[in-house]
Amino acid sequence: MEIIKDFTCNVDISELLEQLKIMDSQDVSEFKRILDIAKKIAKPKAIYVEGFIEERGNDFIIVNGVKFVSRTLSKNLADVDRVFPYIATCGAELDSIGFPDDLLKEYWWDSIKAYYLNIARNGLMDYIKTRFSLKKTSTMVPGGGEYGLWPIEQQKELFSLFGDVESLIGVKLTNTYLMMPNKSVSGFLFPTERDYSGCRVCRRKNCPGRSAEFDENLWKALEIEANLQIKK
Ligand code: SF4
Repeated sequence: MEIIKDFTCNVDISELLEQLKIMDSQDVSEFKRILDIAKKIAKPKAIYVEGFIEERGNDFIIVNGVKFVSRTLSKNLADVDRVFPYIATCGAELDSIGFPDDLLKEYWWDSIKAYYLNIARNGLMDYIKTRFSLKKTSTMVPGGGEYGLWPIEQQKELFSLFGDVESLIGVKLTNTYLMMPNKSVSGFLFPTERDYSGCRVCRRKNCPGRSAEFDENLWKALEIEANLQIKK
């Protein structure tokens, strides 16, 4: 298990201004002021563990003694013996500040937190790939993709691989399996030749968050239908 807390935080303000569509507006100076607050306190963090698949079945795998139930996960990991469970976060420091009385600033702050989460997540992925000489990789996350693909309840098992995650990197799992800070992500990183992403096997129409088209061939290859029936 390894914890990373020293990410290089190069914040591209023009990227944020563009994303928030305030590039040429009178809000820029106020946004800069708020971003400066964030820069002073932000400490994005991540944790990962080298996981070995000790046992596998049609709809489960056992990693470092912990059982994960998902046919799609098992199919995705059929050709590998090693996975990298991870958690990345913007950090509790950014989560300690909010603007509950100002919706616009609250939205800006949430976007800044998401930016720092990306720093942690992308930095972690690059670090693992370099350290373990991985080439092509994909990720799967509990609760990601179509409902039932890998149930969100399995966050509990994922967190159990690390022990006390809250004291290690400040991320807490709620009773409904959501993470606090809200700008945190968790999942498995694994080597693969397949272009897997949750969106490619999700049939939801008109989703604003879609990052890849639905791929029927991948859906069939991963036997998703059978996976969803197991969960019913
Ligand atoms: S299409 Fe939307 S709901 Fe489906 S996995 Fe992608 S982001 Fe999630």
